[in-house]
Amino acid sequence: MRTLNWMISATLLLSLSAVAQNAADTQPSAAPVQTEQTQPATSQPAAAAAQSSAPANALPAPPPAAVQPTTMDQVVDRFVMREKGLIKMLQSRTPVIETYLQNLTLDPQLGPIPQTDKYFLGRMDLSTTIDRKDYIQDDQSMEKHLLGGFSKLFKVQYQPLGFSWMIFADRNDFDRQHYDFRYVRREFLGDVRCLVFDVTPKPKSGMGRFLGRIWVEDQDYNIVRLNGTYAPRPRNAFFFHMDSWRLNLIPGYWVPAFIYSEEGDFSAGAKNTLAFKAQTRIWGYDLKKDGQSDELTNIRVDSVQDDSPTAQDASPLAAERQWQQQAEDNVVERLTRAGLLAPEGELDKILQTVVNNIEITNNIDLPRPVRTRVLLTSPLETFSVGNTIVISRGLVDVLPDESSLAMALSHELAHIVLGHNLGSKYAFNDRMLFSDEATYANLGFKHIPEEEAAADKKAVDLLKNSPYAQKLDGAGLFLKVLNTRAGALSALLTAHLGNNMSQGPTVTRMSQLMGSAPQIDWNKLDQIAALPLGGRVKLNPWDDKVELVKSQPVAITSARDKMPFEVTPFFPRLTRQGTSDANPTTGNAANTANSGTATSADAKPVN
Ligand SMILES: [Zn+2]
Repeated sequence: MRTLNWMISATLLLSLSAVAQNAADTQPSAAPVQTEQTQPATSQPAAAAAQSSAPANALPAPPPAAVQPTTMDQVVDRFVMREKGLIKMLQSRTPVIETYLQNLTLDPQLGPIPQTDKYFLGRMDLSTTIDRKDYIQDDQSMEKHLLGGFSKLFKVQYQPLGFSWMIFADRNDFDRQHYDFRYVRREFLGDVRCLVFDVTPKPKSGMGRFLGRIWVEDQDYNIVRLNGTYAPRPRNAFFFHMDSWRLNLIPGYWVPAFIYSEEGDFSAGAKNTLAFKAQTRIWGYDLKKDGQSDELTNIRVDSVQDDSPTAQDASPLAAERQWQQQAEDNVVERLTRAGLLAPEGELDKILQTVVNNIEITNNIDLPRPVRTRVLLTSPLETFSVGNTIVISRGLVDVLPDESSLAMALSHELAHIVLGHNLGSKYAFNDRMLFSDEATYANLGFKHIPEEEAAADKKAVDLLKNSPYAQKLDGAGLFLKVLNTRAGALSALLTAHLGNNMSQGPTVTRMSQLMGSAPQIDWNKLDQIAALPLGGRVKLNPWDDKVELVKSQPVAITSARDKMPFEVTPFFPRLTRQGTSDANPTTGNAANTANSGTATSADAKPVN
C-alpha cells in the first residue's frame, strides 16, 4: 500500500537538506509578528517609540478567582457571568473570520457531494455589535443582514453575518430572565471535563434566542461548545443550525474558533431543497486593530543588514538584490499584519525541506535563499513574492502526499528560478499603506499566461530530477480528482493573491502530470487522491501559528469516506491552556474519517 504520510517521508529526506535547514534556522521562528516591529532608523521621541511598541496585544487579564459554586444554580450564574466576561474581553478584538460553504447534491456512489460553493472572508469588529468588514465584497447585501437565511421565492442566500453571529449564544440577554437552563450530565470533550446544559428561551422572550445545548468546563465555568440554533425565527428568515467550538488559548478564557453549520436531508421522502455544509474559522484575535495611529511605525523600513566587513556602499547588483529583498519583506510583513499569513514556524520547516530537496537535486543555487510561508485561508492557491513561496492552508490540507506538495511548491520555485518575480514595486512603502480589508485590492502576485506555462514546464523538469520523480502519480491523481470537482468548487479554486489552478471547470496547473497518472477509482479504498479540508493544518486562532494536526487514522470503509476537498464537522480535542499539550488540536472529523491522513504526530523534522 502506498504510504500517505508525507510528513514522515519529509523527515526521512532531511538528510538531503542539511544546508538549507541552516538557512531556515537563522530566523527566530514563531515570535508573534506584532512584537517584532522594527523602528525606523531615524530617531524617534521616546514617547512615540514606547507607544508603538506598547503591548497593545498583551494578553487580557484573566478573570478574578471566584468561589467554587456548590449548586447547579450557582454554576449557571457563573457561566452567565463568564460569558459576559468573554464578550467584554473580545470587545477590543477584530479577528479574521472565514466561512466556506458547499451546496450539496446527491451522488449515488459518493453520497452528498459539493455542487457549488461560496467563500467569505472578513475582519469582525467585536466592539459593540457584530460587524464585519469584508475582504471580498461581491454581495452588497451581506452586511445589512444579521441573520443567516434565505428570502422567499426559494432564492437561497447565505449571509456570512449569519455565521459570525454564532460565536456567542446571545450577545445581549444570556441570563435567567430570558432562558431556562437544564443540567443534563457530565461529559469529557477531549481532556476537559464539562457540565452539559440544555438551553431553551423563555416564552415571549423575543426572536432569535439560542436554543440548544452548551458544554461548560468545570474549573472556571466557561462555555466551550454551543450546539443548536436560534428561535423563534422571524418571518422570511431562517437560522442555520450550528456547532460552535471554543479553545482555551489564553489564561481564563475560551475564545470562539470554529463553527460548523449544516442543513439538508437526503433521506427518502425529504422535501427540503436546501442542503449545504459550511465551516467558519476565526483567527487573528491578537492582530492590531486596523487604522490606528501607529500604522506608520508598523512598516518595516529596512530589514536588510549589510554585514560584510569591507562593505562601503552597495554595488549596483547588491543594491538591486537588497531592493528586491525589501519588497519581499514588505509584502510578507504586511500580509502577516493583515492576518492572512502565519508567522514563520514549524510547518515552514517541512515546506522548506521539500523545496530544498528539489533545489539540491537540480543544483539550483540562488543568490538569496528560498523561504516559505503559509497563507491562512482556505482557497487552494500558491504564489511567490521575491524568493518567498506562499502556499494556502487549504491547499496543504487537501494534498495527499509529499510528492503532491512538491508539485505545488515546484511551480513557484520555477517562477523564482526563471526570474519571474523581479517586480519590486512593493519596495516603496506607500504601497503598503492600506486598510487590512483592502489587502486583496492592493496586493497581487499573478503572472501572465506565458509565465504560467513556462513555470509549469520548468516545474515538471525540476520534479523529474528530484527525489519525487518516481512518485508523481500521486500528484497527477490529485490534479485529476481536482479536475472532476473544479466546476463545483469555483470559490475554493479562486485564488485571491496568486494565479488560479484552474480555468473554469478545467485544472490547468501542471496538467502534464495528469497524463501519466492512474485512473480515478473511487472504490479502491487505498487510493486517496485528495483529502477533506481541515485534515492537516491546525491554526492557533490567537497568535495565528500553524502546525500539523495530530490525530489517529481511521480506516476508510467506503468511497463516501474519501470526501476530497469537502467540508466536514469540527471535532477538536479540547485541552486546557498550560497543560502538557497546551496547543489546541484543531483537527476536525475529517482527520478521523480518513485513513492515513494524519499520523504525523511523531514526524517533526529533526534538526
Ligand atoms: Zn504561477
